[in-house]
Amino acid sequence: MRKYVIMGVQGSGKGTQSELLCDDLDLVHIAVGDIFRWHVQSHTKLGAQVRRIMNAGDLVGDDMVEKVVRERLDQHDWNFGFVIDGFPRNGRQAEFFMESYDIDGVIHLELPEDEVRRRVLSRRLCPNCGMDYNLIADRPEVEGRCDICGHELITRADDTPEALDARLRDYNEKTRPVLELFRRKEFVHDIDARPPADEVQAKIRAALNLPPYQPKRD
Ligand code: AMP
Repeated sequence: MRKYVIMGVQGSGKGTQSELLCDDLDLVHIAVGDIFRWHVQSHTKLGAQVRRIMNAGDLVGDDMVEKVVRERLDQHDWNFGFVIDGFPRNGRQAEFFMESYDIDGVIHLELPEDEVRRRVLSRRLCPNCGMDYNLIADRPEVEGRCDICGHELITRADDTPEALDARLRDYNEKTRPVLELFRRKEFVHDIDARPPADEVQAKIRAALNLPPYQPKRD
């Protein structure tokens, strides 16, 4: 059983790296932001409660976040373990998490702020299958269309300069201290997120003593 937390500033590639890590190791990727986005897109009651907060780039309240995380982890569909992404984001969430689960490692993706802005503002998302694109490094084959399912790509409502400022402020003020909290327990692995995704993945695996990435054959 492997339980990892992946942390890093917006646009550092947490989603991409989590997917690569989960793929051949049969881990479950739990992305708290994706769960909230699903609720917004599906027009659930929870979605209505968090939509404005998310669009402004602000953090959803801790009670709601903890409920969503608890319910997700209570599904116990993670026999081989999980990678949790986008959580914990402040001290209270970290305490809640550490009280209930032991963690085998924290992956910290590091990216300078100018690169964060460049990446986030050129990010596009498929609202149908969740695939992420980047107009600089990872363009779709047909402009504006998802390579996997052909759906029209969108810009995340919180990938605007204003919302990004709010998210970076929260990251620096609230999430960085969590990293220091974890660091005192000595299981944080700092990884440079600037190289191409496969190189970053290789470094993560080496840091965690995991076998190299072996893409699954269908
Ligand atoms: P992300 O995709 O991780 O950037 O998350 C998108 C948005 O979902 C954030 O800007 C928050 O509004 C909300 N969110 C996701 N995870 C959390 C969390 N752990 N605490 C509070 N809000 C969160």
